[in-house]
Amino acid sequence: MPAETETRPDDLVQPFRIDPFALRGRLVRLGPTIDRILSQHDYPEPVAAILGEAIALAVVLAGALKYDGVFTLQTKSDGPVRLIVADVSTEGAVRGYAQYDRDRLDAASANTAGSPSVPELIGSGYIAFTVDQGEHTERYQGIVELTGATLAECAQHYFRQSEQIQAGIKLSVARSGENGAWRAGGLMLQRVPPEGGYRVIADDVEDAWRRAMVLMSSATPAELVDPELPPRRLLFRLFHEDGVRVFETHPLEARCRCSRERIAGILRSFPKEDIAEMREDPVTTVTCEFCNTKYEFTADDLAPLDS
Ligand SMILES: [Zn+2]
Repeated sequence: MPAETETRPDDLVQPFRIDPFALRGRLVRLGPTIDRILSQHDYPEPVAAILGEAIALAVVLAGALKYDGVFTLQTKSDGPVRLIVADVSTEGAVRGYAQYDRDRLDAASANTAGSPSVPELIGSGYIAFTVDQGEHTERYQGIVELTGATLAECAQHYFRQSEQIQAGIKLSVARSGENGAWRAGGLMLQRVPPEGGYRVIADDVEDAWRRAMVLMSSATPAELVDPELPPRRLLFRLFHEDGVRVFETHPLEARCRCSRERIAGILRSFPKEDIAEMREDPVTTVTCEFCNTKYEFTADDLAPLDS
């Protein structure tokens, strides 16, 4: 597994396994992708940072699921940042946005020496995970109360509660380089449910899990986003003594799924009175919350289809 063969250090998911202990995981690295998403919006620093964290979390979690469609992470809460949406498609298209209250955010920032913590930013509410696999399939939804000092802790709490898998998650978001470009990283380690039984005895399984979690937490926030530290080299450094194996990476990119047709379709689904009201204006402008693209519709554009 020579690190030198890596050509793409950014915008990828790097899956790995530690077979002797039946553990698997993913390392996520976001460079230009996260910078593009966060720069599309003029968010205050703490809002951009927490959205970056949510996007990194969505990508590490999506990798834990088998699905064909779109995985969405959403928080809804009573803090200054009242809504965060991050989604990732099976093809690796990533996007996200946040809604916040400027006055309350300023107040929260004024009350803290550093930047406000996650509980201060988000407040109380819930975090939901949805998998949308298209029109005629079921939507899978997991939902959990926002508890914990970080989004990663909230997600870990969800896994503990749902008792599906045991998981450890670490996330990092930072600005780097001369232009202060945003970067994000995520590391998730999970215990594979024993099918054919573990290859080590039960006590050792617990020890191995704890050991892996300690090794994982030894990765610093700076290392998770370091462009000079290729993902494979980081994984090898953390887990080489335990026989880590890496697999093919999946590329990620910043791409919105909005289109004029899609937005026109949404407008047409509004009640007739609302459409009539919109048609009184010469131009109705709709801005995509994910990518900030503006779509303009004239009264003619919004005319009923059957006329
Ligand atoms: Zn868009």
